[in-house]
Amino acid sequence: MNRIYLDWAASAPMNLVAKRAMAAASEKIGNASSQHQEGRQQRTLIDEARALMAMKLGCSFGELILTSGATEAAQMALIGPALANKNPKRNRILMSAVEHHCVLGQTPWLERMGYQIELIPVDRIGRVRLDELSAALDETVLLVAVMHANNELGTWQPIKAGAELAHAQGALLFCDCAQTVGAVDPWIGAWNLEGLGADLASFSGHKWGGPQGVGALFIRAGTAIDPVLRGGGQEREMRAGTENLLGIVGMAAALESTLEGLESGTGLDVPPEERGSSPRQAPHGNLREMGLGPNENQAAQAFASHLHLARVHLTVPNPADRLPQIVHARIPGIDAETMVIRLDQEGIAIGSGAACSSGSLEPSHVLLACGYTMAEAKEGLRFSFGPRTTIQEASIAAEVVNRFAL
Ligand code: PLP
Repeated sequence: MNRIYLDWAASAPMNLVAKRAMAAASEKIGNASSQHQEGRQQRTLIDEARALMAMKLGCSFGELILTSGATEAAQMALIGPALANKNPKRNRILMSAVEHHCVLGQTPWLERMGYQIELIPVDRIGRVRLDELSAALDETVLLVAVMHANNELGTWQPIKAGAELAHAQGALLFCDCAQTVGAVDPWIGAWNLEGLGADLASFSGHKWGGPQGVGALFIRAGTAIDPVLRGGGQEREMRAGTENLLGIVGMAAALESTLEGLESGTGLDVPPEERGSSPRQAPHGNLREMGLGPNENQAAQAFASHLHLARVHLTVPNPADRLPQIVHARIPGIDAETMVIRLDQEGIAIGSGAACSSGSLEPSHVLLACGYTMAEAKEGLRFSFGPRTTIQEASIAAEVVNRFAL
């Protein structure tokens, strides 16, 4: 049975260009901190990868700290400014109620440091309430955390407006960008850090086709932040530990390749020299003949348009409100765990926001924050699409979902 993978938001399959870059880097020996030629060669590869990422993300070389992923980057973005803060009156930290666990999970540590954590409510589609954020903000707030788009629902957040509100009170804005790189933000247009206005932003390599276990934190020049991982002097003393050379090289190569795939319209991770003369030609044949959309957006659209909406309820009905590659839905009366297992048995891999811990299904904190009941918050299904998802796969998956929903 050919499996259909609709869980790209959990982790995207590794990109071909990234695999090749990592294979080449694996031939190198040494440690980037060493003075000898082998060490210097490793340092060059890391510097090149950082420079490429900085160029693609729209920041300067020195503003990117390479980490073990978005979780570590988020921890650093929250704990680092809290450690560096010299003003005891700035003792409050605001987070949107729908942040990823890697953000919300920093609460106990921050509380132990004397900070008060407050959750900012969201509306029915999971968008942070700017009126509530504005009302909560004053000169006692050190930092505001609002993610760029929600990883469960795909809902875009008004980061630019949130950053302006935070900055007006002298607070920092941290934005978790793990899911959004390459997508077009409805407020700022094409992805770029400058337009976003955040002081800190986190990234995860495996969400854009790089390897797992590597990511980055953008720290705007001049932001007061202390290191969390101390020890060696790596990453300009901001993040100790021998660099993950293969991961870093793969992450940067995947970022470039994924963004070029989006720009060229193929959506595929095909190296430029292997693309056909037409942007829609992959080395393996014509994309249209293969049933491939130019990118994940078409597959996601095809999926959503095939659903029986009377039985399958879309959580964010207006596509303009969400990331194009994520479709979140509920089938009233059927919990997510049952659906994930049934679809898995049919050869379809999807995600759900409801975590299963110690044998019982936990409701999604995101759906609860949107005002859903406990039972409804256990019904969330996340279908996420990638450049290699075919329209045919999307249609088959929708038919299977419809069948189970009857
Ligand atoms: N933030 C968001 C929004 C995510 O979706 C994820 C991944 O699930 C993370 C953070 C964590 O990323 P990583 O796996 O790199 O630690």
